[in-house]
Amino acid sequence: MEYLSTRNKKLSFNFKEIFLRGLAPEGGLFIPKNIKRYNKSEIQKLSKLSYTDLAIEIIFEFCNPEINKNILRNLIKKSYKDFNKKEVIDIKKLGNINLIELYHGPTLAFKDIAMQVLGNMYDELNISSNNKINIVVATSGDTGSAAIAALNDRKNINVFVLHPHNKISKIQRKIMTTIGSNNVYNIAIKGTFDDCQKIVKEMFADNTFREKINMSGVNSINWARIVCQIVYYFYSYFKFNNKKVNFVVPTGNFGDVFAGYVAKKMGLPIDKLIVATNENDILERVINTGEYKPGKVKPSLSPSMDVQISSNFERLLFYVLNEDDKKVLSFMNDLKSKGSFSLNQEQIDIIKEDFSAKKINDDETVEIIKKFSNDYGFIIDPHTATAVGASKVIKDNSEILVLGTAHPYKFLETVKMATSQEIETPKQIEHLMDKKEKYDILENKTTDIKNYILEKLS
Ligand SMILES: *Cc1c(COP(=O)(O)O)cnc(C)c1O
Repeated sequence: MEYLSTRNKKLSFNFKEIFLRGLAPEGGLFIPKNIKRYNKSEIQKLSKLSYTDLAIEIIFEFCNPEINKNILRNLIKKSYKDFNKKEVIDIKKLGNINLIELYHGPTLAFKDIAMQVLGNMYDELNISSNNKINIVVATSGDTGSAAIAALNDRKNINVFVLHPHNKISKIQRKIMTTIGSNNVYNIAIKGTFDDCQKIVKEMFADNTFREKINMSGVNSINWARIVCQIVYYFYSYFKFNNKKVNFVVPTGNFGDVFAGYVAKKMGLPIDKLIVATNENDILERVINTGEYKPGKVKPSLSPSMDVQISSNFERLLFYVLNEDDKKVLSFMNDLKSKGSFSLNQEQIDIIKEDFSAKKINDDETVEIIKKFSNDYGFIIDPHTATAVGASKVIKDNSEILVLGTAHPYKFLETVKMATSQEIETPKQIEHLMDKKEKYDILENKTTDIKNYILEKLS
């Protein structure tokens, strides 16, 4: 498949190139030149497949011919064999909510579903090269642990994970910092997730540095992650065939919900995608008012959504602006020089055909966890709770599919506070508390991180 950049359509790339680079030159994001649209009978055929077989069909559309189908088949089977559920995800009906549990992988968050595949793709796509790859990743808590679980102990790969110091949950931190392999470096940055993401973007934009360390990235700006996430929209939709289906998605960097938008572009008849945010509500504001204006990050009970610069929104913008790369570039330049950009009413209306958005604050989040536990005897994590809250924007009697993005155990303090209940330790992390942590604390300065990495590589 051929890919181009949201900021320059003249540049063309193949899957291997976009996979290894992550970010396009000039700071743009990669996007497929054409997205395949399935017809009704093709969709009908897909609806009969198991999760892994469906993943093979969908992911193949995007990595053909750089990964051949047999290799992809083995790669995907290997990626999902250690999940706690045979069908990778689980769907539960709780009142009028259909909860899509996406958190049965090794680090208990939905990010494992894509990251496990990416880990195996690195081995596959980099196989002929003797050149060590250095993956640098910013995390608001869950990407880092999923990346470490997927890339730990792989040969020819080092992983540098930047997380905001003291701004992630204790269990999130422990999952990342207790792995202790020689190829993994955890760095706590004295700043926010947006600062971590900015440092990574600056390092990608520095060609000399990027080439020197053979840098690659697995943040949700990496298109391959979005591709893997498209699969569960199809899979869960098929359980509600011929009904009107809405997905409600706890959202931060706009990667997960954008995967739903791509699924819709591929012909899956989703009605609406509902963006749930916490008090970091830039997406709620841009969808409802047209103004994209990052504020200061406010730490919340759903830290993996504490994002003000929601990078994948640029991909939606590309489509809303009729695939006009020059316009995307000019919006992004406004963002850089003036600190914001504004969409006009016509553009807002285009977004609203596919999306709605609602903000849920911390007090509401706690109430929702408590009520859900009282009503159904089922405990949800604070991220999932924002989506349960946001589902109230659906007023008709269509099916409500809420993406459950993390296991409640990962946010034990919050969940205990809301419900006063204990949760059984998931078997993936039984011995976590006894293990020794290893991480370094660094200033919020790109040059410091660059020097740290160079030092570790020398
Ligand atoms: C990463 C994450 C999100 C946000 O996903 P985006 O793709 O960044 O929008 C939501 N919930 C949890 C638990 C996460 O780890």
